[in-house]
Amino acid sequence: MLSSKEIMELDNKYGAHNYHPLPVVIAEAEGVMVKDPEGREYFDFLSAYSAVNQGHRNPKIINALIEQAGKCTLTSRAFHNDVMGKFLKKLCEFTGYEMALPMNTGAEAVETGIKLARRWGVEVKGIENGKQEIIVAEENFHGRTTTIISFSTDPDARTNYGPYTPGFKIVKYNDAKALEDAITPNTCAILLEPIQGEAGVYVPYDGYLKDVREICTKHNVLFIADEVQTGFLRTGERFAVNHENVRPDVMTLGKALGGAVIPVSAVVADKKFMKVFTPGSHGSTFGGYPIAAAVGIASLEVLEDPELKKSVQDLGEFFRAELKKINCDKIVEVRGKGLLNAVVFVDNFEAWDVCIALKDAGLLAKQTHGNIIRFAPPLVITKGEIVKALDIIKTVFEKF
Ligand SMILES: *Cc1c(COP(=O)(O)O)cnc(C)c1O
Repeated sequence: MLSSKEIMELDNKYGAHNYHPLPVVIAEAEGVMVKDPEGREYFDFLSAYSAVNQGHRNPKIINALIEQAGKCTLTSRAFHNDVMGKFLKKLCEFTGYEMALPMNTGAEAVETGIKLARRWGVEVKGIENGKQEIIVAEENFHGRTTTIISFSTDPDARTNYGPYTPGFKIVKYNDAKALEDAITPNTCAILLEPIQGEAGVYVPYDGYLKDVREICTKHNVLFIADEVQTGFLRTGERFAVNHENVRPDVMTLGKALGGAVIPVSAVVADKKFMKVFTPGSHGSTFGGYPIAAAVGIASLEVLEDPELKKSVQDLGEFFRAELKKINCDKIVEVRGKGLLNAVVFVDNFEAWDVCIALKDAGLLAKQTHGNIIRFAPPLVITKGEIVKALDIIKTVFEKF
């Protein structure tokens, strides 16, 4: 068997260097714990950027995967398959929308939302094709396609990938007035994360999403909420917009919809918006394939448990309260909702070093923007496990 060191050398030699991972190799995983080839155990406090909400290898989801693999795996959308419809019905019931369009990755869901909004802009709102504008926020993260990085404000994500896709206006996040001021007769949509995950779990003011909803309604502009990271109970509600009782026109979904097993994404919206898609106008070979549909159903079933929701809320409160008690003068802020949390350190602080120390102590987390560490364990974590993890975090933080 290869050692961690040998495996990392393979990655570095043969893999493009488009990531800078922590120097740890994961070979096995179950629930909230992962194990390296040497048998060292770690708490997973990243959850693959919230794609592991249901825990690693959740038995219900793994069983659904295996069972479906024994029947039929791939059909393409040239034919119907006998699982997709059940999956989409369940997803519509879970989210409260009339229709869903299945894709694979989060970026594809966002691309689908953009296409929906642009078509709607022309065919319903009456904007001239080619003139449609979509308003987005600074510090956004919506994925990695050429169009999506065209409206990123992160130089790492964007540099030298031009020519960039036009049709996007970037305004300040957490500022409803800036959004409203940017609207023109050609605006077809506002695309936002309800909490900015990659920006460092940036939580907007209470009422921001309501304000966005009102502005969109007033100006006949679609509100697209990108819930790829914040959705599926991560923040203690099914979706982050639920905290403000807001219903966007379109939600883009991904990550945990695939139950930590395979990529499954979707866009949900009511029929009056979804109808802009006609045969041949959009699609994906794998979108809605039987394996994805079966895994998607099981992933949603796990998240329907009312006790899980309650637990995420309670443990989130507890976790933040305990983090705030830690005696470390480099910490500026502890913030988050549910089990999507972050610790912000002073400017220019190298959180990477803390992540290495956390790893050595048995907990995996990753810094974002240099001085912020996100803590987002699988939602199935227990109080006992959180307490153990907090012990590790406390011990490490107090050394800095
Ligand atoms: C991760 C993420 C995406 C992109 O998802 P991929 O599956 O990596 O393409 C889009 N939007 C948000 C908010 C995300 O966090």
